[in-house]
Amino acid sequence: MEVKAVREQPKNIMDFMQVADFENVVLCQDQASGLRAVIAVHDTTLGPAAGGCRYWTYASYEDATIDAMRLARGMTYKYAAAGVNLGGGKCVVMADPARPKSEAMLRALGRYIDRLGGAYMTGEDVGTTLEDMVNLRLETPYVITLPEDWGGAGAISEMTAIGVLEAMKSSVEHALGKRSLQGLTVNVQGVGAVGGPLCSLLLDEGARVRVADIRAESLAPWRDRPGVEVVPVEEIPYLEGDVFAPCALGGVVTSENVGRLRTKIICGSANNQLWDASLETNLQERGILYAPDFIVNAGGAVFDADRLQPGGFRRARAEAKVREIGRTTREVFALAEQEKVGTFRAAELFAERRIASVGAAKGIRSRFRGEI
Ligand code: NAD
Repeated sequence: MEVKAVREQPKNIMDFMQVADFENVVLCQDQASGLRAVIAVHDTTLGPAAGGCRYWTYASYEDATIDAMRLARGMTYKYAAAGVNLGGGKCVVMADPARPKSEAMLRALGRYIDRLGGAYMTGEDVGTTLEDMVNLRLETPYVITLPEDWGGAGAISEMTAIGVLEAMKSSVEHALGKRSLQGLTVNVQGVGAVGGPLCSLLLDEGARVRVADIRAESLAPWRDRPGVEVVPVEEIPYLEGDVFAPCALGGVVTSENVGRLRTKIICGSANNQLWDASLETNLQERGILYAPDFIVNAGGAVFDADRLQPGGFRRARAEAKVREIGRTTREVFALAEQEKVGTFRAAELFAERRIASVGAAKGIRSRFRGEI
């Protein structure tokens, strides 16, 4: 499972709840359908907590709960930094081969979400589909991700790719002083739902692209494309080039491999790219600019959330908001220089300060003070 680069290491659920100041953690079960799930609501200062519903195999309910909590906390930061008026939440469903995901299970979960009265809104995530979202919607209105004919934004991964491209342009300008990606080399790890569209966008910008993927079917469209070189999976993180774009898994930068990374910039869609947040110092020392993952990969979440705006979903407005990720990335880099902190810490500060100022205006005594 992906790791979250949290500074505090939770010893147990209540400890984590207190240290990261969670509002609510709800255990859900339904004997008839076999549902076992956790809903974590981290912070609702900016608005209702939102975050996808993950369906995954966990060794224990404690593991599932900690995962839901880490992911919920991550959503607080993602929405806050992206300028979306939502808080952070997450739901995880514990997969059990003996009791597979079913309409009855999802509807039982939908009733749990409904009983929270709008404090948590759900969406698609690893292991869940738009069809699952429709089943949840049968029981509760608190579902953000929906097909277009249900009033939702539909598929969102291409918007995540657009956000990555905008962040990459800002990173290139900051680190290399260039206003275009023309002629630059970008090494893309994983050409799936986000990495694939990102490669097309990069080629349109005149970049050279190297790709690697563990799945032959993901690589197939790229094998004979001009401007694209397919390289071995084990080599992609360590190739020279201008940008390394992790678009597969989390935890790609570790204390063991950080010395071998050779691009000037890291900017990709994968969640939790740093195995540990302190690795940003190692990257800084090596002169590698790290574009913080939760700033870079917010495009899909931003696009999806548009349907909560007045008048419902508006594609043009949603895409314009996604493209603001370029400006946010520049602001985070400027904050890092101003406060003399790494870019990941600057991104956290950027989010914390927005929550603190909105919270103060609303008269909410916020846990976020936006202090160094
Ligand atoms: P995906 O499953 O569609 O694509 C991932 C690709 O990476 C697959 O083709 C897979 O074969 C490949 N892959 C897996 N392990 C690999 C490895 N070790 N080396 C090279 N390739 C490998 O997933 P996605 O939706 O494109 O998401 C990619 C990443 O971006 C994930 O970390 C995800 O959490 C994150 N993300 C996605 C979105 C979105 O809108 N889809 C939004 C935010 C963050």
